[in-house]
Order: sequence, then C-alpha cells, then structure tokens
Amino acid sequence: MEIKFVGIVLSNIDYREKDKLVNIFSVSDGLVLGKLKSVKGASSKLKVLASPFCLAEFTAVKAKDKMTITGGEVIDTFFDITSDIEKYFVGCCILDFERKLIANDNELEKHFKLLVSVLKSLSYSEENAKLVLIKYLLEVLSISGFALNFECCSACKNKLNENAFIDIIDGSIKCGNCVGQKYITVSREEKEFLNQVSNKNHSIKLNYNNEKLNAILKLLGNYVYCQFDYILKLEEILKF
Ligand SMILES: [Zn+2]
Repeated sequence: MEIKFVGIVLSNIDYREKDKLVNIFSVSDGLVLGKLKSVKGASSKLKVLASPFCLAEFTAVKAKDKMTITGGEVIDTFFDITSDIEKYFVGCCILDFERKLIANDNELEKHFKLLVSVLKSLSYSEENAKLVLIKYLLEVLSISGFALNFECCSACKNKLNENAFIDIIDGSIKCGNCVGQKYITVSREEKEFLNQVSNKNHSIKLNYNNEKLNAILKLLGNYVYCQFDYILKLEEILKF
C-alpha cells in the first residue's frame, strides 16, 4: 500500500551495498524507519531524501512493518546549515535530541513545528547559532514538561532571589537550604539571561558573549542529562 507523509530526515546509515536506512520524524507517526534503495549512486534522485535536515513529503510503500521510500517532494533542504560548520553541529545536536525526545512524547505536532522553525532560523537568519540552540532547548524542554523554572524553590516554595541549584539526583530546582549534596549552581546572572531568552518579547536586547553562551550550554547539557539520562551532542559546538 502506498502512503504519503510529511517528515524531516533525522539521520541515516548505510545498508547493504547501495541502500540506506533513514530515520524520519513524521509529523503524523513520530519516528519512522524507511529504506531507500540504490541511493548511494551519485545520480540517484532519491539521494536528497536521505540527507539529514531534508523536509519533504515522502511517498512510501509499507509491507508488514517494513517501509520502503519510493519517492518524495522536497519542501526544503535547509542547505545553508550544511555549509557552515558551527550551524551544522548545532543542527546535528538538535536532530539527535529530537530523535530521543519524540520516541516518548505525544506532542508530535509541537515538536515538528518547533523543529521546522529552528531549522529555518539556523538556515536563513543571521542569529548566533548557539543562541538559536539555547532558545530551542528552553522551548523543547517546556514542550516535554521539563521547563526550567527559576521562580521559586521546588521544595520549600520560597522565591529564588539569588543563586538557584539544580539537584543532580532528580533535576529539580531548589534553594541553597533544600538542595542535596550534588547540584549544579545557576548564578543570578545566568537565571536572568535564561529568563530573558525564554521571554518572547523581541524588544529585549540580549547581552552575551561566546564564553557566556558556552557556560549556558554546558548548564543546559547538565540539566538535560539529569532529566533524560541523555548526553546532548555539545562537544564540537563548545570548541567554537
Ligand atoms: Zn527551598
């Protein structure tokens, strides 16, 4: 039976001599695995449909639980992401995290919408790639029910006026009195920055430099690890 679906390629691996297996984020079905036949020949029209970041309406044939991609209409390849190495690593970090998240998340449409919008920002805007990643992480954490909230301590409910602490054991945000032995400190300055980034008021002028963005990314990487037991692919990004 032939089916059609809109999706974004998250990753691919070589399969047999000329084929590829492609992980696609389908807006209707979540994570799907499809086989693309004879795609490794240079002239294959299907080649672009196997490339990470490709947004397309795929045509596929489904037999039992195996899917073979037979064609598709490309909507956008977000080509500029792959022509800038920093953008490329940021994009790969996002695709890999989405692959992890959508496996256990029902908010597929929200994830898909956010992913398309973040790939557009990376590809078509001049915005700092690390800042795009930070904005994405705050939003996706919120969609997945793990929003970073620095308003008050999750244990005693007192306002967090100074530093906040992420409890490594459960990822909760607490004050200095309530937090356990292992924690990540979030300074007042970092809290303010994250609140400003989450705020969609575009008139706020963000004040940052590369060092600050790296520190914030490390912090978010640690938080993601506490909550999801997953290591965000930040290693290459932090070298910039
Ligand atoms: Zn407390």
